[in-house]
Amino acid sequence: MHEQALLTEDHPSLGNAGALVGIDQIEELYKTSVSANNAVKVKCANSSCGVKVSIVIPDKEKAGRKTSPSAHFRGHHPEGCDRKPQTSSTTTTSASSQLKANPVKKEFPQVWIDPLTAAVNSSGRLLEPANNGELRSGSGVGGRSREGLGTSEGHSGVVGKFARAWLKMTVQSRKRNPLKAPWNPEGTYDSAFYSFELNSTKFLGKVGTKIFTAPVISVDKVGGDFYLGLQEKALGQAPKVVVLKSEVFEVGAAGRALLNQLNTFDLAQKVYLFCYGSFKYNAGASQSELVVKHPHFIYIDLPAL
Ligand SMILES: [Zn+2]
Repeated sequence: MHEQALLTEDHPSLGNAGALVGIDQIEELYKTSVSANNAVKVKCANSSCGVKVSIVIPDKEKAGRKTSPSAHFRGHHPEGCDRKPQTSSTTTTSASSQLKANPVKKEFPQVWIDPLTAAVNSSGRLLEPANNGELRSGSGVGGRSREGLGTSEGHSGVVGKFARAWLKMTVQSRKRNPLKAPWNPEGTYDSAFYSFELNSTKFLGKVGTKIFTAPVISVDKVGGDFYLGLQEKALGQAPKVVVLKSEVFEVGAAGRALLNQLNTFDLAQKVYLFCYGSFKYNAGASQSELVVKHPHFIYIDLPAL
């Protein structure tokens, strides 16, 4: 089986952007890595990964070389990426046309849209497959601040959308349902979420980027910043703290709504937090911290009233 990759730009004979190409097809057309890379732009075949890859075509004429290595794609894939097209993504449909024509039920959102890159990337490629309103309702989380100037959805944003879906799922269904994101190479809800109640929190630094979820046990306000302590199954050496710098609250209506939630936080109730990012040890504070970079990267699941 030849290695495959996805075209990111149209090519006159290989196909349009989004089409899957084999390294053998490229090798037939181009004799050197340079000519191939000039003409063909590709990314990882696993659409959940999608890192840019380059084409390596070994020089066959190189003197003295008995067996030349075979042509291949080279890229920096996240851990766990299989570099293979997903079984459901057949042949040459682009990711976007698949979404539009997706025949399977869209009960749960499937594609992660990063609010940080979405704001920058105005190529019009922004798709909101789960924008059917269904998942926005019924959460009871502050319908007050839905008007969001500058934000196109409810203030809980991307993490809230996936968190509410995750909460509705069984363990089996988390393993079955796709969640496509560059940081989630395994591509399921199960692989995207990391629950403090279900998992060890001993080596969080190695867990990498996830949507972490845990009950909140402390709320500290220092200046305009908030530090939320998380409950662990077994206490580790370092407390696990979610950090919200004051600038996060300045991001539109979503930021203001988040600040409002935090100011009225009631620890007498068990409140679950969902936050996207990765934990890093802060030696100065002797704690492991996840710094939230955007109000849409955190979701506070308030108990039903
Ligand atoms: Zn990859």
